[in-house]
Amino acid sequence: MRRIPAELRTVELTDARMLSPTVRELVFRTTDGRAFDFLAGQWVKLHLGGGIDRDYSIASAPDASAPDRFALAVTLVEGGPGSERLHAMELGTRVDARGPNGLFVREDAERDAPALYVGTGTGLAPLRAMLQEELRREDGPPQVLLFGSRTEEDILWREELEGWAARHPRFRLELTLSRADTRIWKGRCGWVQHHLHELLPTMPGAPHVYVCGLSKMVSEVRRTLKDELRLDRRHVHSERYD
Ligand SMILES: Cc1cc2nc3c(=O)[nH]c(=O)nc-3n(C[C@H](O)[C@H](O)[C@H](O)COP(=O)(O)OP(=O)(O)OC[C@H]3O[C@@H](n4cnc5c(N)ncnc54)[C@H](O)[C@@H]3O)c2cc1C
Repeated sequence: MRRIPAELRTVELTDARMLSPTVRELVFRTTDGRAFDFLAGQWVKLHLGGGIDRDYSIASAPDASAPDRFALAVTLVEGGPGSERLHAMELGTRVDARGPNGLFVREDAERDAPALYVGTGTGLAPLRAMLQEELRREDGPPQVLLFGSRTEEDILWREELEGWAARHPRFRLELTLSRADTRIWKGRCGWVQHHLHELLPTMPGAPHVYVCGLSKMVSEVRRTLKDELRLDRRHVHSERYD
């Protein structure tokens, strides 16, 4: 893996929008104009003041046309000082960010194998970065995203994900809702881990699986892959948010 040393940088909020009723996307750029180097899947530590330091996965792939920028996606946690500050933050606000950090990245050798990405909520952030990067290659092995949300309005970047599914025959989008209105929603329901038995065997070869989200889900997915689906644990890569 290419190592990029973490640095303390000042970044400014340049763009923000709500992706769902509880998730805000925030785009930051460096204030000195220098590139912010990172690998898809890595995270930054934001120093939000008052001793509040919080980690956020970068939700965008490195982009040569805007190397000084990165996007985050932040879930509003009730009573949570970090996420509340980020949801209230005004454009133009400057914060200190240390990064890039983390080993949740795709090694070059893994890119020859099919990939299954499993995420819930803002656990989609680093998976989106990985997929944005992967789908820049015209050809390659199959890529499947299994994304779990509560309801349809909680599906993040839906247009973008559905656009990928329409444009890239090797990309498959599998959405599952844990609190679906089944009168309207005819897709998958329930937790992500319950769909692995059906999805994994449809993938050729020995896929690599990338899992991100809250710890309980990550543990359940890892357990299912190891104990029930007998996937080599060297093929399972994960990031936990709590
Ligand atoms: C490597 C890493 C990457 C992370 N990336 C992201 C990210 O991309 N987006 C993001 O929203 N958070 C992310 N987090 C979590 C983030 O660092 C904070 O913990 C979160 O914003 C809550 O902080 P707070 O101060 O608002 O709440 P706190 O008062 O610190 O409350 C923490 C509580 O919030 C819950 N929580 C933490 N993250 C989430 C979440 N995403 N959704 C629902 N509940 C949560 C935890 O279970 C915990 O009980 C990441 C954490 C790590 C370790």
